Amino acid sequence: MSVPEPHKHFDAIVVGARVAGSAAAIFLGRQRRRVLLIDKAAFPSDTISTHIVLGGGAKVLGQLGVLEMLEKAGGVRFDRMRSIGPDFDYSGDLVHDGVDERGLCLSRVKMDAAMIEAARSFESIEFRERFRVTDLIIENRKIAGIRGEDETGRHEFRAPLTIGADGMRSAIAHLGEERIGAFERTDVPCARAYYYAYFEGVDAARLGDEVITEFESSAGAGNLVCRCEDGRTVAATAFDAAELHSFRSDLNGNLQRYLDRSFAVGRMLEGATIASKVFSSGLLNNTYRDPAADGALLLGDAGLHVDPLFGQGHSLALMSAAIVGELLPRWFHESASDTVSATALAEFTRRRDAGLLPFYKASLRVSQELGLDKGTRIAHRAAASAQWAADEMIRFAQMLTPRGSFPSFRFARLMAKAVRAA
Ligand SMILES: Cc1cc2nc3c(=O)[nH]c(=O)nc-3n(C[C@H](O)[C@H](O)[C@H](O)COP(=O)(O)OP(=O)(O)OC[C@H]3O[C@@H](n4cnc5c(N)ncnc54)[C@H](O)[C@@H]3O)c2cc1C
Repeated sequence: MSVPEPHKHFDAIVVGARVAGSAAAIFLGRQRRRVLLIDKAAFPSDTISTHIVLGGGAKVLGQLGVLEMLEKAGGVRFDRMRSIGPDFDYSGDLVHDGVDERGLCLSRVKMDAAMIEAARSFESIEFRERFRVTDLIIENRKIAGIRGEDETGRHEFRAPLTIGADGMRSAIAHLGEERIGAFERTDVPCARAYYYAYFEGVDAARLGDEVITEFESSAGAGNLVCRCEDGRTVAATAFDAAELHSFRSDLNGNLQRYLDRSFAVGRMLEGATIASKVFSSGLLNNTYRDPAADGALLLGDAGLHVDPLFGQGHSLALMSAAIVGELLPRWFHESASDTVSATALAEFTRRRDAGLLPFYKASLRVSQELGLDKGTRIAHRAAASAQWAADEMIRFAQMLTPRGSFPSFRFARLMAKAVRAA
């Protein structure tokens, strides 16, 4: 029998080292698991993404013990959220009754680098950057590790569990699908394109530490604004994908024009100047994947990708990683050094879907139509009619609501009243 080479065998291989991957690695490192954390990128480096980490995601950053470090890196903790539409405008605090449920806004360059630093501080975690995974090792239809390359050549590594935290165009998901028919996917196209840039000189008296989201500021449009590090503010606009071609003809001018015709965001930015390129990811899908296969699991965007309009992606990734953290002892206890089975990993799918699909589905409803659907509009109107209702809706939007508790009976009654009044 061949003896495994320790430097080529790990308890887990995590492919992708940004939000989902670093978080999963930290949970594994805390349980003294030997981890290979890999990314094809070199860090610090940017990625196309605004940076709202909602209250639900920030809670997981707290569990990971990295919040203080992210604040030191310049992360702005936003303590209020405001939601605006054609016939609603309401806000709510994220610190109440002594409970701190604030979100975080920090550029990905800084956030991802800080998370990787935190992961590297564990002795049992080996980090390799500029390493591209090109194939899976598959034995008896089970995923037993990865093959890939860096500047030193081609390598292969093995582990009972491979975690594909490699984003919405996940190589692990594609390879698993192609080679063993795993990770079945469902795509729903996003109806809007999404563009963002950084602004300097935003008046603090106009925009405090809050995140503002707008819906239907003009047909099919939505906007978002929040302060981030170094005195900068990140602002985004989303609009009918059919306008993409004409928008691209003058990125700066059109971004400014679209924000100017917003309900409130344009006013917040008056006197400020665009201090960056205008960024976009092009047209995207909402993608649900079955995340479990024998020996591998998809995490973050790789398994569940949602329209950027709602700023949920990081929180979905972090909250999914927290589920991994809870289940790890069971997986390794049950499977010893053998492949972690799809049956064992199915509990991850069950918990992820039970806990996170209500948020995903709420976003999906708004993402596939250019206007707010009737139910969502009524919920917003109900939220605008009483502060307790605004607080309840904002806790849901911040992904802080436990499963099944939104809408509460009281909120549903208020929605029914709004329907009767209409
Ligand atoms: C325009 C835009 C704006 C957004 N704004 C927000 C927002 O405000 N708030 C929010 O919560 N979410 C937002 N999102 C979504 C958010 O960016 C994602 O949900 C989040 O990045 C998911 O993290 P992840 O770790 O799963 O994947 P990623 O951040 O995509 O990281 C995947 C990593 O895998 C690596 N990788 C990929 N393939 C390989 C390979 N073959 N080998 C090795 N490494 C590989 C990549 O280099 C990358 O570093 C936005 C997205 C877009 C497109």
